[in-house]
Amino acid sequence: MAHLIDGKAIAAKIRAEITAEAATLKSKGITPGLAVVLVGEDPASKVYVSMKEKACQDVGIFSDEYKLPAETTEEELLSLIERLNSDLRIHGILVQLPLPKQINTEKVLEAISPHKDVDGFHPYNVGRLMIGKPLFQPCTPYGVMVMLKETGVDLAGKEVVVIGRSNIVGKPVAAMCLAQHATVTICHSRTRDLAAKVGEADVVIAAIGVPEMIKGAWIKPGAVVIDVGVNRVGEKKLVGDVEFAAASERASAITPVPGGVGPMTITMLLYNTVESAKRTCK
Ligand code: NAP
Repeated sequence: MAHLIDGKAIAAKIRAEITAEAATLKSKGITPGLAVVLVGEDPASKVYVSMKEKACQDVGIFSDEYKLPAETTEEELLSLIERLNSDLRIHGILVQLPLPKQINTEKVLEAISPHKDVDGFHPYNVGRLMIGKPLFQPCTPYGVMVMLKETGVDLAGKEVVVIGRSNIVGKPVAAMCLAQHATVTICHSRTRDLAAKVGEADVVIAAIGVPEMIKGAWIKPGAVVIDVGVNRVGEKKLVGDVEFAAASERASAITPVPGGVGPMTITMLLYNTVESAKRTCK
């Protein structure tokens, strides 16, 4: 059976380090600050925002919340971001997505100062990641990389197969693996013979959003499997993008869903915020 990569335990370890860093900064008179902006009443977004606020409190980050009505205009949101860009108490700005229809998401993300872009979605930060000089790295793929490191996986020379090419997971995680000297294949909905591609991988990273699409029988014996997918099946059950039980019998290590990549995303948001605050000391 595969070793279970425990996202909760890794996240707890990293959060303890972040707590210590935040305390050191405080002793120098700097409290790391994160502005969290929520527009509208989307129930899932509300849950994510309150989880982020609680996580900030737990590690000693000051979180400044802006809960705006659904009818907020683009101009109003842009002027709030402009204020936050020059607010010295704020080291990170997070605008919870999705935004209401009347607001152009790209315009809003590009208005955030690249030096406070703790989500790593600004084209400046995407570009820096691509040229191998990252400033802020997006939280979910960054969390995947930390999990691989904590599991002792050396990517140099390995075949990594990423399934999914979104801007928030697939593409950035592929760039991060490339920076670690892996040979990276990115698969998507037009990829021919996905099973054969997955079968060649030393490391499989699935970020698709289709329940258990990657079959256990496709996994090369001994491969490491990172399942980013979170899919609700029925009322309460969550499953990943990988057929977990069957894949566990072939993989050397695998992330569960839930309790795998999930806990790492907010952890890396906290990490990015503290790193941003540290840069103000230099
Ligand atoms: P997304 O933007 O919908 O992208 C999905 C990707 O999967 C696309 O590139 C798509 O290909 C590809 N795909 C879809 N069907 C496929 C198929 N049959 N064969 C091969 N590729 C296929 O999703 P995302 O935002 O990257 O998220 C992916 C999953 O990760 C979701 O389950 C999401 O909930 C989860 N997630 C988890 C966290 C976390 O914190 N744990 C964070 C973010 C996302 P095309 O480009 O060709 O359409």
